[in-house]
Amino acid sequence: MFDSDAIKNEFILFLKEKLHFNDSEIYIDSDKAISNTNKYLIKEFLKQKKEGVPLDYILNSSKFYEYEFFVDSRVLIPRPETEILVDYVNNHFSSPIKVLDAGTGSGCIGISVALQNPSFQVYGSESSEVALNVASINKNNLNVENFLLICADWLSCFKTKTFDLVLSNPPYIADQDPHLEDLKHEPKKALVAKDSGLGDLKLIIEQSTKVLKKGGMLILEHGCEQENEVGNILKENNFLDIKNFKDFQNLPRITLATLE
Ligand code: GLN
Repeated sequence: MFDSDAIKNEFILFLKEKLHFNDSEIYIDSDKAISNTNKYLIKEFLKQKKEGVPLDYILNSSKFYEYEFFVDSRVLIPRPETEILVDYVNNHFSSPIKVLDAGTGSGCIGISVALQNPSFQVYGSESSEVALNVASINKNNLNVENFLLICADWLSCFKTKTFDLVLSNPPYIADQDPHLEDLKHEPKKALVAKDSGLGDLKLIIEQSTKVLKKGGMLILEHGCEQENEVGNILKENNFLDIKNFKDFQNLPRITLATLE
């Protein structure tokens, strides 16, 4: 479906951000000659919108927390509800701690936590080499010194009792979920997990019991129908004080727990 108001707003953003048009060129001087390069870029924009490509990929830019992240189809587009994780960390931790953002993708969680808390030592693990390239662009663009990228499957490469805090927004959608059709431009590896979407959440919880220090905290984003299952897996793995948070739409999307 083509929502003409939405496309119009996105087109205006595209003209401003990508082609650097100013307001008078868009709204007043609209018969201004358009260069051949810009004509080509406008045609490409319309073609991509017809195919349903998200605007953030077209602009190669996504706003998350207070920052602008480079994004392309190698990584998931950061979502506003994920900012709740960063908010929680900012409001509950202050002394210098060691933090892991497991499956960092664009780096949005780890980099935002690192920038907001310069005394923290933040690591971002990522198994996709192409996603790691994007995270590294963001680390450089945003000049983050206390954020280190590691090519690894979740928490597999870290020594026992390394971290005070593990954060993750892993893939949690089941293979056959119809919502995937709306997400077809984003990397499947960042969205889909085995075991009805719980496979990676399970792995992260199990591996966290090794790499977290005693009393360390795990904070996970998950699907709005996975609250109970995630809580049970945490219990089975000796986590205590399990709490769930709702997202901006009042859906139970974030669970945190402390290691016994
Ligand atoms: N941590 C990244 C984000 O929240 C990547 C998430 C993912 O690829 N599942 O955007």
